[in-house]
Amino acid sequence: MPASSSRQLRPSGPSGSPSRRRRPALFGGLAGAVALVLCASGVLGGSGAAAAPAVPGQGESPGTAAATVDHVEHFDGSGPAGYRSGVPAAAPDRLVERRRPLAPVERRGDGRVSALQRTGPSAERLDIVLIGDGYTADQQEDFRQDAEAKWADVAAIEPFTSHTGQMNVWTVEAVSRDSGVSGDPAQDVVKDTALGTYFWCDGMERLLCADLTRVDSYARQAPAADIVIVVANSAKYGGAGYNRLTGYPFDGVSTLSSDHDSSSLIAVHEAAHSIGRLADEYDEGESGVYQGPEPEDVNISTYPAQEMADRGAKWHDWLGKPDPAGGSTGTFEGAGYYGQGLYRPTETSLMRDFSVREFNNPSRQGLVDGFERYTHGE
Ligand SMILES: [Zn+2]
Repeated sequence: MPASSSRQLRPSGPSGSPSRRRRPALFGGLAGAVALVLCASGVLGGSGAAAAPAVPGQGESPGTAAATVDHVEHFDGSGPAGYRSGVPAAAPDRLVERRRPLAPVERRGDGRVSALQRTGPSAERLDIVLIGDGYTADQQEDFRQDAEAKWADVAAIEPFTSHTGQMNVWTVEAVSRDSGVSGDPAQDVVKDTALGTYFWCDGMERLLCADLTRVDSYARQAPAADIVIVVANSAKYGGAGYNRLTGYPFDGVSTLSSDHDSSSLIAVHEAAHSIGRLADEYDEGESGVYQGPEPEDVNISTYPAQEMADRGAKWHDWLGKPDPAGGSTGTFEGAGYYGQGLYRPTETSLMRDFSVREFNNPSRQGLVDGFERYTHGE
């Protein structure tokens, strides 16, 4: 692992992986670049006691609470690639100060769980949980419709499409005092919402952060959440990905805005990091030539095509074959945040930018293998 990236990158392998009842080491190598150690920063005021008993501060530990910086990935829409940022773990004071408890009538239904799709026992399924933020008690039907639409977007992308039978999909209703989320439309807008979601996180307009302590409390209402998608009630483009979570009972969290089409791709991209052990295929963020070892990630490599073929390494079986992400599978230099020394399988793909809505062949295989790990309890 290159020393220059130590701020974002954490050691690969099981030592950096969450302790799980299954899947002890889902994250590896550069796929863990959106590393995150959570800080318990919020006082949970909005969760209804009856419907949401497992709230932090009432016996549930949110896990590692030592860090003051979260590392997130976001896509600001101005360029082809994502960006990685360190953001303050604690919610801004101006958001915390606005928090008030839910009224008794608002608590009714807060934390309610519904199944969008249930295909089998959670121990043998990938459980995806969508939680709403910025929806008032009267707007929960709106949330359910938004969640269905977002799930439909995810399920329209292969290999999710042909493997939905390996997934359960749940919605958790979170009742917010205010409609909409903070930072929308302007930076100074402050809303009191169940998950504390806010644009302009760390001064970046499209970076949509959430209070993951609160996310955790709601996610726990659903059976065995593996991947969490926070659906923020907003038409503004934005989102964020938190991966490689430690001390939480799920593997990844992404945020997206409910009424912006492209935001669904953020959730797909982030889920692919968590599920498929996939690295980012964009080449921004690090300077110089990558000097590290061959990464664990299945979709980036230090080997150019001939060497990959000679070694029988990584995606050698796919080399030269038509690729759903465009062209043929090959080795294109520039990946894993480096412009040189690391190769990606295709010119573009969903792990590089959002110009295509396709994963390339190696990434598809990584995802399919990931689905198998969830369904077979490895
Ligand atoms: Zn990424």
